[in-house]
Amino acid sequence: MRTGSRIDSLQTGVLVVGGGPAGLAPLVAASRDGGLDRLLSEGLVVAERDQTVGAGRIGRYLINSDSSADTFLSCVAGHPDPVLARLVDHPAARAIAAHGRDAVPLPLVGRFLAALGEALAGIIRNAPQGRVMTGRQALWTRRTASGGWSTRLRCVSTGEEVDILSRVVLLATGADQPVTRLEQEAVAGRRLLPGCADRLMQSDRVLTAEGQAEVGERLAALRHPRLVVIGGSTSAVSCVRVLLGALGDRPGQGAVTLMHRHALPVFYRSVQAARDDGYDAFGPDDVCPVSGFVFRFGGLRFDSRTLVRRALGIGDAVPDPRLRLHRLHDAPDAGAVLDRADLIVSAVGYRPRGLPVLDLGGRTVGLSAHQPGGTLVGPRCGVLDERGREIAGLLGIGLAAGFRPGGAMGGEPSFAGQVNGLWLWQNDVGALVVRRMFERLDETRCPSQPRPATDLPLPPWPRHDAPTASCPCSA
Ligand SMILES: Cc1cc2nc3c(=O)[nH]c(=O)nc-3n(C[C@H](O)[C@H](O)[C@H](O)COP(=O)(O)OP(=O)(O)OC[C@H]3O[C@@H](n4cnc5c(N)ncnc54)[C@H](O)[C@@H]3O)c2cc1C
Repeated sequence: MRTGSRIDSLQTGVLVVGGGPAGLAPLVAASRDGGLDRLLSEGLVVAERDQTVGAGRIGRYLINSDSSADTFLSCVAGHPDPVLARLVDHPAARAIAAHGRDAVPLPLVGRFLAALGEALAGIIRNAPQGRVMTGRQALWTRRTASGGWSTRLRCVSTGEEVDILSRVVLLATGADQPVTRLEQEAVAGRRLLPGCADRLMQSDRVLTAEGQAEVGERLAALRHPRLVVIGGSTSAVSCVRVLLGALGDRPGQGAVTLMHRHALPVFYRSVQAARDDGYDAFGPDDVCPVSGFVFRFGGLRFDSRTLVRRALGIGDAVPDPRLRLHRLHDAPDAGAVLDRADLIVSAVGYRPRGLPVLDLGGRTVGLSAHQPGGTLVGPRCGVLDERGREIAGLLGIGLAAGFRPGGAMGGEPSFAGQVNGLWLWQNDVGALVVRRMFERLDETRCPSQPRPATDLPLPPWPRHDAPTASCPCSA
């Protein structure tokens, strides 16, 4: 697309950067009520670095999901578009359905999301103003004089570049675990890097096939390995499961230590169910007023829940003698435990990848996501600058973007984290993003430009008064 030094450009209404599960989620939400047709008539481009869209990274994790199998299929079950509805018969969908309301291996989820991505890409490409540009990495996005955005894409195989001029950009570039964080921030009372570099792995790697092979190699020569996982999330507990598995038949009393800051929250369907199980480590603020669930958003579920129930000795669960819980608050000798460890797994979360954002003059705009503890997006999915103000026409969604549910979406009032579940992205959060897109498209419409033929009323603000059968909160 480059002719000499000139870079071609393409004009559209909306550009989605990142065609992973989160980038496609608002399109899934919009596909149910005609919103996708309207987006397509405004012009829609999806830019993805990989060669396919849909699966992103989720299928790389060799663990079970922390949401129920049926929630992954709810996006296509009974869908009004026959192309999407037919996906319930896809082999991956059938295999997921066989897990009912149980957890499901994430590689299977990845296969299904790849099929969903292929079907959606077909729908987009069939529209005159729809483009799915795979093998294209976005380098930066820059404000234009007309109030829109110019985003530079580079072809990963040829290096050719093209600028996408759009009125809205949705950043859905996922997240990673930058090592700089471990160099700069104290974890369990100390900076893990550079001091522990030769004994350190990050959770994202440990949960993949390559990472698990590396764990096996690191443990191979050790008869009595001492392993530490730092963190209290599903990822941390999943890493504990991986390490316990890697111990094999070694004698391993207290071999794995889970070092966590806060009490480990366990999900229950009701206060009564929690009490019946002998679990009382929660208060009124830990109960979702909408669903009545205990730790609806923050609670550990499925495999992680089983492991932590055992570790805490809840109900009739028998603790695994190989696992030791070390709450940093209660036991200050974390340094000694870390010094003795053969392998330390850091599971302290993700930071959003995002994209360099430039102003009209080409200067980098500071983002809230670059601040310690800052989030990429605010409560209405707008990307925030370093002062916490929304940047007009720039939206964000996805892993570690920082979306915090509130109001009608429910959740336990004590929940201070962010929601990273695909179901919410394909439903309430996706609907919110689509609404924000339409609002911006209307705000920036040139007076001489006709409104699209498929102009529909704006979708209503998302509501979530009661958990539906397919909602993960009913899982
Ligand atoms: C261990 C783990 C387990 C999880 N389990 C569940 C679960 O059970 N249920 C659930 O609902 N959620 C789960 N999640 C959360 C979430 O659904 C997944 O993390 C999901 O993969 C996030 O999707 P994403 O699109 O935000 O990011 P990704 O999957 O990383 O996708 C981002 C996409 O953007 C592309 N991209 C990145 N940068 C650029 C660029 N500059 N230009 C173009 N393209 C770019 C990438 O190639 C990729 O395709 C889990 C997360 C983790 C970490």
